[in-house]
Amino acid sequence: MPHTPRSAIPRARRARAALLACVVSGCLIAAGAPNPAVPLGIGDRLFPTLGNPGYDVLSYDLSFTYPGSNSKPLAAVTKIRARATERLESVNLDFAHGTVASVDVNGAPARFTTAGEDLVITPTASLPKGGAMIITVRHTSNPVPEKGREGGWVQTDDGLVMANQADAAHLVFPCNDHPSDKALFTFHVTAPNGYRAVANGLPVGTRTSGNATTWSYRTQHPMATELAQVSIGHTTVLRRSGPHGLPLRDVVPAQDAAQLEPWLAKTPAQIAWMEKKVGPYPFETYGLLVARARTGFELETQTLSLFEKDVFGNSAYPQWYVESIMVHELSHQWFGDSISPRTWSDLWLNEGHATWYEAQYAEETAHRPMEARMKAAYAFSDRWRATGGAPAAPQPPRKGQKIAIFRPSVYDGAALVLYALRQEIGRPAFERLERSWAALHRDGTSTTADFEQLASEVAGRDLSAFFQGWLYGGKTPPMPGHPDWKTNPV
Ligand SMILES: [Zn+2]
Repeated sequence: MPHTPRSAIPRARRARAALLACVVSGCLIAAGAPNPAVPLGIGDRLFPTLGNPGYDVLSYDLSFTYPGSNSKPLAAVTKIRARATERLESVNLDFAHGTVASVDVNGAPARFTTAGEDLVITPTASLPKGGAMIITVRHTSNPVPEKGREGGWVQTDDGLVMANQADAAHLVFPCNDHPSDKALFTFHVTAPNGYRAVANGLPVGTRTSGNATTWSYRTQHPMATELAQVSIGHTTVLRRSGPHGLPLRDVVPAQDAAQLEPWLAKTPAQIAWMEKKVGPYPFETYGLLVARARTGFELETQTLSLFEKDVFGNSAYPQWYVESIMVHELSHQWFGDSISPRTWSDLWLNEGHATWYEAQYAEETAHRPMEARMKAAYAFSDRWRATGGAPAAPQPPRKGQKIAIFRPSVYDGAALVLYALRQEIGRPAFERLERSWAALHRDGTSTTADFEQLASEVAGRDLSAFFQGWLYGGKTPPMPGHPDWKTNPV
């Protein structure tokens, strides 16, 4: 999923920019007043200013009003319920692509300014450690991408969808934009009659008033901001039942429903296949959101994966390949969504597993041998490590580099690590590990170290040396059981 990265601006320049922003917006810095606004982050190695310290978001309540055009700003209200984890004089949210009209904290108007890609809020009184806060931001949300910056709202033929991974949710709504802070979400989307709005989770009602209808949805499980999804368009919802009566709903352009139906009908069996591998499906619903848009990627937005319409029925893509991509996004519901990465350097846990099940599905249903794919990946692995970093030590995104952190090293390069692990500990232990991992970390966030520890426990021996080489090494270690496999020269 290529996205234009945000760059790490050196601290000194950031501080000066923040001061300038403060001067132009006319805020006063009196003696004894809090420090001037600066953009903060939680210290993610790859995205230093994503997320913010000092609080834990419990829930987001997002209201959007769609004006009937996908090139005009939406009116929006973002209500954040959070708990301070330290005493706070001010609160930073990530937000960068809309105009803020007002901010309230616990019902009282608060001062606000911008610093870098942060909205810095100063309540009238400081917030005590452990204190609850409700922050209400009235703002616009601009669906027209900034030049050279992708992600956030995606314009479709007749409306909008979202693609926020990795660092673009804050182009849509103010938030703590990092997957380590998951929260529950409620959405209220108002659109002119004739449009339909769908979001993550289950519907909780619609209300029509005059020429517009408000559609509401709520997630039953915590979710990372990067996985939020809202579709607004002339869509149809196709409903069906999955394993154990799991309600499934696909959201598709109305005119494409008949053509897409044979593809969408494959989902229940794919979920059953995944459940056999790793255990129960982790959420309240699933489905595909098929959009008439050009993104260049598909995206595992929680309970409702985003696909480009052109993927289906395109002669460039064989049927087995399209099905394996459907399984890739489906498997992310376990790996990446239910279990979120604690930091973006843990991305290989998302993409490695999704690529693994994509390849295994192709092996079992379409006779595309996993071993051949892994042998080919092995040949490229040293080059991938040299250009993008080892799977668990990805190089930071560079400005203007569209592919950001989504490089082969975290896809087939990381699936290759799982293959090596299976070779090392044997198939039964590997399959036990996968099931335990999915069950233990459900609805949580986890790190590479957590995975290493569980693998060692399941294998009954210390695997740290194995993981050191495979996850962090500049060179690909020898493949257990295949001493003849060779890497191409870098
Ligand atoms: Zn993926």
